[in-house]
Amino acid sequence: MKKLISALVLAAVALAAQAGTSFKLLSVGDDVDAAALRDYMQEQGGVAVELGGAYAPADPAAALDAIGRAAVADTADDGTYAVILYGRFGTDRPQGVCLPAERFAILNLDRLESAGDPAKVGRRAGQEGLRVMSMLLDMPMCPFPLCVLVGYQKTEDLDRMSGNFCPPCHEQFLKTAADKGLTLLPAPAAD
Ligand SMILES: [Zn+2]
Repeated sequence: MKKLISALVLAAVALAAQAGTSFKLLSVGDDVDAAALRDYMQEQGGVAVELGGAYAPADPAAALDAIGRAAVADTADDGTYAVILYGRFGTDRPQGVCLPAERFAILNLDRLESAGDPAKVGRRAGQEGLRVMSMLLDMPMCPFPLCVLVGYQKTEDLDRMSGNFCPPCHEQFLKTAADKGLTLLPAPAAD
């Protein structure tokens, strides 16, 4: 019995050590499939992404960086590493803003859309999610063409790019996330 208790105590200590911060995903407006994005970012990234729910900016017409800054002030807590907002902010506004020092990224689905193809905007939004998580961890872009972190010129370029990290970038992503205190998810069982 004593042995079992020691094992349980060890397990509890291990769990406590694993609990860290996470990315918090917020959606502005009801046209964001936040759960699908969260699942994609967790599966491909391997770090915890918390669903933060809907966020209504006090001033929806404000610049994207102002909205992001306000969202951090309104929603971030001790468990938040950085906030990632998805929303439709109009085609006349930037595709996104990512400010690692201010712990947020904000992505504009209207600019990620192409000819009203929802499948494309969903994949692109997932790719951009991985890219901003990496930027928020201060990781560099990747020179390898088969990596989601390669540089690109225009939105359509995302469609012929990879939807995930190359192996060295993923390793670096997990290591950097762990160093910065983010909660890592258990690796999926190999089949
Ligand atoms: Zn890479």
